[in-house]
Amino acid sequence: MRTQVGIIGAGPAGLTLGRLLELEDIDTVVIESRSREYVEQRVRAGVLEQATVDLLDEAGVGGRARAEGLVHHGVILQVDGQRHRIALSDLTGGRIIVIYGQQEVVKDLVAARVESGLPLWFGSECTSISDIDTDHPRARFAGPDGTTDELECDLLVGADGFHGVSRPLVAPQCQVFERDYPFAWLGILAAVAPSTDELIYARHDRGFALHSLRSPTVSRLYLQCAVEEDLDAWPDDRIWAELQTRFAVDGWTLDEGPILEKGVTPMRSVVAEPMRHGRLLLAGDAGHIVPPTGAKGLNLAIADVAILAPRIVDLLRNGDDAGIEDYSQTALRRVWRAQDFSNEMTSMMHKNPDPFEDRRQHARLRYVVASEAAKRSIAENYVGLPFW
Ligand SMILES: Cc1cc2nc3c(=O)[nH]c(=O)nc-3n(C[C@H](O)[C@H](O)[C@H](O)COP(=O)(O)OP(=O)(O)OC[C@H]3O[C@@H](n4cnc5c(N)ncnc54)[C@H](O)[C@@H]3O)c2cc1C
Repeated sequence: MRTQVGIIGAGPAGLTLGRLLELEDIDTVVIESRSREYVEQRVRAGVLEQATVDLLDEAGVGGRARAEGLVHHGVILQVDGQRHRIALSDLTGGRIIVIYGQQEVVKDLVAARVESGLPLWFGSECTSISDIDTDHPRARFAGPDGTTDELECDLLVGADGFHGVSRPLVAPQCQVFERDYPFAWLGILAAVAPSTDELIYARHDRGFALHSLRSPTVSRLYLQCAVEEDLDAWPDDRIWAELQTRFAVDGWTLDEGPILEKGVTPMRSVVAEPMRHGRLLLAGDAGHIVPPTGAKGLNLAIADVAILAPRIVDLLRNGDDAGIEDYSQTALRRVWRAQDFSNEMTSMMHKNPDPFEDRRQHARLRYVVASEAAKRSIAENYVGLPFW
């Protein structure tokens, strides 16, 4: 089998790239190990930067995000039982964020690709990649019926997430930068209307808590927990009691409801450099991950492919490979900016087991909520910097 661009992974990065290339009449095949149902139900990120929504709009797949997404103009930082608003739009010349679940973005992209009748092979797991130093890289994959096959292309894009095959295959040629954080997040999805109109990031002596939203009837909440946290030790009552304690401020109530889903997410920063190896390009979580406190993972994945798509077009249409040569360097500038911001938000908002670091970060947060200049810096990064 042959195509121009083979895309491994139908997450936000792979599907968005497929869509951007479709609009340029470039042939693509998307190989996805999971089923359509699985990828459309996988609850993960939910904060879209304005540039992400604008890109989805331009690609003709942003209609539902615009109609159903919740537009936010600010976020709340809570410290010492006091809430402080970061007026995102006022501090950034009117920019916004949109609350719209990652699984909804994926549904919209899958629907568009299915409607266009383009190849999107669910249940097909890429098992190896070869010939990336030639003009015809290949991906081997096992189909849903257990048979194996091979896809030959002009370019391969590894958009197969943090646990995919692309990065490990080129790992010996990569420099990998990593940081583990000494805590994790216990996240819940609850069938209850959000108790807030804007996200609340709370720093508390017992640990961080985040009140996020998914829709007018569904809330997403997180608690800082231990890296090896045992979920069985967290019955629903205990989760709600802990959330009540960490969010407590006078005159405000956190509404409780049935918990639909719970899980523990580790906090890690990873960047694999470079993001290009011959004719294999890494995009999204395949190349880097950030701790979720800055809400950057999904946005970075989409930014990578916004940077990559025109470069692929230049190569395949005009034979110009300057853009592809430069892809890694350009994408990594943005990735490192997001790493720094995500690290700053994570360190500042969480209880740190090192007492010196903990007091330092507490002082930093108190400064941020008191300083117009510091709030503007948080706002600029939170709404997202330009793609390049
Ligand atoms: C539990 C959780 C919570 C998160 N919360 C947030 C958040 O609140 N805010 C935020 O900004 N970010 C968050 N993130 C990060 C965000 O979800 C990711 O950054 C985003 O999914 C990256 O998109 P992607 O397309 O690069 O990778 P993915 O979404 O991981 O997509 C990769 C795709 O490749 C497929 N795949 C993997 N291996 C193969 C293979 N061998 N062959 C074929 N297909 C393969 C996978 O099934 C998957 O569909 C969270 C992540 C997790 C895991």
